[in-house]
Amino acid sequence: MTLLVIGSVAYDTIETPTAKRENILGGSAPYFSYAASYFGPVQMVGVVGEDWLPEYTEMFAKNGVDTAGLEIVKGGKTFRWSGKYRENMNDRDTLETQLNVLGNFQPKLPENYRRSQFVFLANMAPSTGLTALGQIQGADLVVADTMNLWIDTARNDLDALLKRVDGLVLNDSEAKMLTGELHITAAARKILTMGPKFVIVKKGEHGAMFISEYEMYVVPAFPTETVVDPTGAGDSFAGGMMGYLASQRGNFDGETIKNALVYGTMTASFCVEGFGFERYTEITRDDIEKRRETFRKIASF
Ligand code: AMP
Repeated sequence: MTLLVIGSVAYDTIETPTAKRENILGGSAPYFSYAASYFGPVQMVGVVGEDWLPEYTEMFAKNGVDTAGLEIVKGGKTFRWSGKYRENMNDRDTLETQLNVLGNFQPKLPENYRRSQFVFLANMAPSTGLTALGQIQGADLVVADTMNLWIDTARNDLDALLKRVDGLVLNDSEAKMLTGELHITAAARKILTMGPKFVIVKKGEHGAMFISEYEMYVVPAFPTETVVDPTGAGDSFAGGMMGYLASQRGNFDGETIKNALVYGTMTASFCVEGFGFERYTEITRDDIEKRRETFRKIASF
């Protein structure tokens, strides 16, 4: 089944307590797409400037990610984000955000993208997500991500978007911020009254929780030994999760949902083992399956 993602495409500058990388590929759409590509084809919509490197288009093509929906703005500069991780490698401070071409982004979906069955609105301004959704007809499943910035600065657009999606993925602090609730289960339940039929709350190194009116599932995080760069973990989780769901042809039973959460956990765990896409370029679906088996032994009881 076709899987479409719309999100930011970035050049990131990342500092950890021990290392720094400048202007490496990042953004919510690339992390999502690469993680999802282990499970099937992906269509990626985003915007970049003239500084976009053709080698990245080739990298995506090699991995089954269609970039026909990636607009390259002549004379423009790609979105830039820079962040610094604290000692615990969990908390990070944003040092700089240069919107550049992302600031005026009006997504125009290629004709063959408009009937995609699975749609993910990755982290970007909710108004951009709404513009994209207006061009999509009859999707089976629409899921969105969001972040504290949009909860703070674009609440009306975000509320409108929530009414039009089936699912929302967000982290625990964002769920509390969006609802004013102090506990994540209560926060997730409140989000279910805002539009989405299900909510997935990411709890970083504590795993993830799926909640709908009648179901609740939790998965722990994979106990990764090497965390080199956590950037993109959230988008990679969503990519593995949605990629697996799309590969299951619309099946949405409890076992499928739990497996989707597990595959998202696996792709996120690989993502953090290198800077940017370093680790992804080394692994195959087989590595994901092997780790899934290790995880199954650790987490089943
Ligand atoms: P994550 O670590 O999963 O939260 O995602 C990190 C990615 O989000 C980075 O590669 C950034 O380029 C991208 N990013 C950071 N701030 C924004 C923003 N305001 N809008 C869209 N993408 C962003």
